[in-house]
Amino acid sequence: MTLGEALALARGRIARLDARLLLECATGCTHADLLARPETPVFGPAGAQYLEWVARREAGEPLAYLTGEAEFRGRVFQVSPDVLIPRPETEVLIDLAVDRLKAMKTARVVDLGTGSGIVALSLALECPQADVFAVDLSPEAISVARNNAGRLGARVEFRTGSWYAPLAGERFDLIVSNPPYVAAGDPHLALDGLPHEPQMALTDGGDGLDCIRAIVAGAAAHLQPGGWLLFEHGYDQGEASRNLLAAAGFKEAFTTPDLAGTDRVSGGKI
Ligand code: GLN
Repeated sequence: MTLGEALALARGRIARLDARLLLECATGCTHADLLARPETPVFGPAGAQYLEWVARREAGEPLAYLTGEAEFRGRVFQVSPDVLIPRPETEVLIDLAVDRLKAMKTARVVDLGTGSGIVALSLALECPQADVFAVDLSPEAISVARNNAGRLGARVEFRTGSWYAPLAGERFDLIVSNPPYVAAGDPHLALDGLPHEPQMALTDGGDGLDCIRAIVAGAAAHLQPGGWLLFEHGYDQGEASRNLLAAAGFKEAFTTPDLAGTDRVSGGKI
């Protein structure tokens, strides 16, 4: 099998771009190689790996779990089925956090439910004056995030546990989170590769606001006066989020849309 034949064989089964990326990953060749030398033979093990990936992609497995990596904010993160695949809409959360951190000379920040670590690591790399902490209930996720921190050279302290449990008595200037916020039974959970992602990272098993309620309720006890809480949520959870923030004593509660114009991040100041 040649590179050109390998691509042709995936045609009509999976997206062209996915086939190209899987072939590049399996063989180590570049996009330029594929274009300039399609007659290059693909060696046995690389070819077998590629064919297996094409079949799994065709059956719905997300590309990132096959190649083991995903790009977010210009950086490559390793991912496994123990963590959610980075979503571009999470950039809004980082932008809002970076805006606030840039105004602080020093800051303690915690990311609750860090998963692969994209939020905590992006903040640590973009705001080097901040001391960044990251919490996750899943020890497997913590190990993925720790590995990413090592590879990207990000200084982050990791804690395993549920939300604020491993942060007893500690206060921060900023709390950020991309919690599970999809309601149980939402048809979205059955689409687009989501069944392959960790359900504990996607849904709270309830109305979608359970984790947000827990995060908002515990925040004041872990924020310095004037500290901010910022969290990602679903397209229809902006108003409920602002109400929860106001009820917990937060001021300046706001909601910001993502690039698609969908309500995506809410926050407030204590
Ligand atoms: N935005 C994700 C989705 O709808 C959900 C992420 C999350 O629950 N934190 O696929």
